[in-house]
Formats: sequence, C-alpha cells, structure tokens
Amino acid sequence: MKGSTHLAIGAAIGTAAALFFPFQPEHAALYLSVSTFSALAADLDGTSLLNGKLGQVSRWLRGSGLWIGLLLVFANSYLYVTEDRFYPSFAAISVTILLLGLVTSQGTIRNALVSLIGIGLLYAGWQTHQTWLLELGAFVAWVPWLKHRGMTHTVWALVLWGQIGWELQYQLKIDGIMATAIAGYASHLLADSLTPQGVKCFYPLIKKSIKLIPR
Ligand SMILES: [Zn+2]
Repeated sequence: MKGSTHLAIGAAIGTAAALFFPFQPEHAALYLSVSTFSALAADLDGTSLLNGKLGQVSRWLRGSGLWIGLLLVFANSYLYVTEDRFYPSFAAISVTILLLGLVTSQGTIRNALVSLIGIGLLYAGWQTHQTWLLELGAFVAWVPWLKHRGMTHTVWALVLWGQIGWELQYQLKIDGIMATAIAGYASHLLADSLTPQGVKCFYPLIKKSIKLIPR
C-alpha cells in the first residue's frame, strides 16, 4: 500500500481522536502527529518497492521527497537555533514530508539515515529521561535493517508500539494517546492485508500471508 494512503488513513484516525476526546487545539495536533506517525512507522523497515512500475516523474518525486523533507527539517532547526523561533505547523509539515520520503525510498543510505534518526531519538530520550523516546529510538534505529513486510508488520510489533504509546500517554498525561497510536499502527497492517501480497501478521507462529481481499 502506498505511503500517501497510509498517511491519509492515519490523518483520519487522528481527526477522529481529536473529536472523540475533550477538544483542545494543541491536543488535536498531538493526536494527528501520533496517528500519522503510527500509520507510517511499519514501513520504516527495509522497504522494497516495485520500482519497475514507476515512471520517471514518480521515481524523481520519491527520491527528492526525502531530501526536501531533510532540508525542511534542517530549516526548522536553523530557525530554532539561530532565532529561537519555532513554528509547530511548519515543523509538522516538514517532519511529515521527511517521513513520507523515508517510507517510500530504499537503499543503504536511506536505511543508515533512518538508523541515525533513531540514534538521535535514543540520545534525546536518554538526555531527558523519557522512556517512550528511548523505546521509539530503539525501534527506529533497528527496523530499517529488517526485511520488508516482516517483523514490523506483525501483531507482536503492534503490541510493542502500544507499549510506546502507553509510555507517551503516561509522560504527557493526556487520555487517548495509546489508543490513537494502536489504531494508527493497526490501520497500517489492515490496509496492507487488503493488498494482493497480504501480511504475515502472526509470523513466525503462522507463516501464511493474511489477505483480506475477496478472490
Ligand atoms: Zn506496510
């Protein structure tokens, strides 16, 4: 399933969470970030896309999305460091573009970049004593080296993700963060199980691909 499709489903879940739980604008932004990131995270694995089917333009877009995203995140950090200014919506858009670029690109450089981001998160978690950030960092640093649609596309990974969500909810003391994270991650597995390839969501207990499309 395409990264942009996962992103759209994630955004819908975040919107639903923002409406379901007591509404506050900053909480709404948080639910949206958690749900979209959760909906995309599984594809931070060693993604292998069928590039043969892609035209020149989409191939270029895929490659450049990553670099445009990086550039935007860099611009955010620059503004923050030099002028002490932080724009939440600009930052959210930048991170989303970077994330989309990461889940739709492949290769050793991309994997190393994902791992590097994971190590950065680990360091931040260690510095600020935040368990969820340590766990998230370990996840992000590790998964790019896994086979595509392998361990990240299982119910075991979903449980792990729920644990990270629970730690984050505990940290922020905001209801519904864990539920939003689980719903986002589960939506990814569900969407992929609607593709012809399916997902081995109980691997290695059940090695068969689960496909929810009617034949
Ligand atoms: Zn996937």
